[in-house]
Amino acid sequence: MHLTDVQAAVQRTFASFADRELVAAADELDSRGEFPRELFRRVGELGFFGMRYPESLGGSGADTVSLCLAAEELARGWLSLAASSMMQALMGTYFVYRSGSPELHERLLRPAIRGEKIGTICMTEPDAGSDLKAISTRAEKDGDGYRITGKKTWITNAPVADFFTVFARTQSELSTFVVEAQSEGVKLGRPIGKMGLRCSPTSEVFFEGVRVPTSMRVGEEGQGADFLTEILPQIRTATGALALGVARAAFEVAVRYAGERRQFGKPIGEFQAIKLRLADMATEIFASTQVVRRAAAMADEGARSAGAAAMCKSFASESAARVCDGAARVLASYGYSTDYPIERLLRDVRFTLIGGGTPEMLKLAIAKELGCG
Ligand SMILES: Cc1cc2nc3c(=O)[nH]c(=O)nc-3n(C[C@H](O)[C@H](O)[C@H](O)COP(=O)(O)OP(=O)(O)OC[C@H]3O[C@@H](n4cnc5c(N)ncnc54)[C@H](O)[C@@H]3O)c2cc1C
Repeated sequence: MHLTDVQAAVQRTFASFADRELVAAADELDSRGEFPRELFRRVGELGFFGMRYPESLGGSGADTVSLCLAAEELARGWLSLAASSMMQALMGTYFVYRSGSPELHERLLRPAIRGEKIGTICMTEPDAGSDLKAISTRAEKDGDGYRITGKKTWITNAPVADFFTVFARTQSELSTFVVEAQSEGVKLGRPIGKMGLRCSPTSEVFFEGVRVPTSMRVGEEGQGADFLTEILPQIRTATGALALGVARAAFEVAVRYAGERRQFGKPIGEFQAIKLRLADMATEIFASTQVVRRAAAMADEGARSAGAAAMCKSFASESAARVCDGAARVLASYGYSTDYPIERLLRDVRFTLIGGGTPEMLKLAIAKELGCG
């Protein structure tokens, strides 16, 4: 797909940041297990957090293709940083923007676009993962506001968050609220120890009768289910871009290694078995690139296809997992070693299969658009 001059410039900016600051440093940074606050701030300075918001609010009004190109390059550098950054650029701030409240825009969105405040999205609960209709967090009317009570889990950036977008039940319907972290009754649960994404912090969040004014409700009561339908395809397309970035990182390592590692008197890249594997990996990346670009372009064209977004995440994440596996086989013992990035990429890539919907749920979304239930 042909990129516009603006899209190509975005790609160059984030590719150069990834090459300069992330590719060589990611393993060491990852081993620290800390949220990379300084790099996060730098991603904000590059304009990533404001790409989807209008210039009048401090953003750049970029299109989805540009957002995905930037995300792909960040993920090629380091998925922990890319995932936390994507949370901030998209779902963590989207509903503050969508609230249309000038007060929330000034107090939360503008600082978030600058990387000074951190936002999250709280959908998942212990008993509501794929089945978001089972959300049981309640928001009960209390005078001119609500009291929110419930438990959320797997919340990206929660340990460093300033505000949460919370999906909660008002009467029987889902509604959406913005809750500030310092509100009385907001408690962080345990940080969740994870296989990968070790520097993108994740934890439980408890809402213990948290009082929020009606002005912090996004949209009308009962609009939460529609909002989920609105945000999930965006999350899925963006996660496809993250997966593609990880696949490219693994491929770059495998190609370099195949040229350097010698066995039986020649570089292993001269053995046909390795050539065929690299060719398969390159084909996966070529195909994934087309799927991610097309799904993003469809979103920009206003197609609002839940099926295309689901195909994007499903294909790109499964493909990235295969590419990382292929790279690990090319490096053999060194793919298993923490001295090379493949071990981290193999752990990280599995997030792209889960976050925003499992492959099974994505296939159900595709089938639904085909008219199959
Ligand atoms: C690193 C990480 C970060 C995350 N960040 C966030 C976040 O910031 N905010 C947030 O709200 N959530 C977040 N999540 C949660 C994530 O969106 C959920 O984990 C995901 O939707 C799957 O839910 P589950 O893990 O409870 O799996 P389950 O729903 O328990 O699924 C278990 C298995 O059953 C299958 N299954 C379930 N239902 C069906 C069905 N109807 N048909 C066929 N198969 C089915 C699934 O595909 C899966 O294989 C994060 C998750 C991870 C791993």
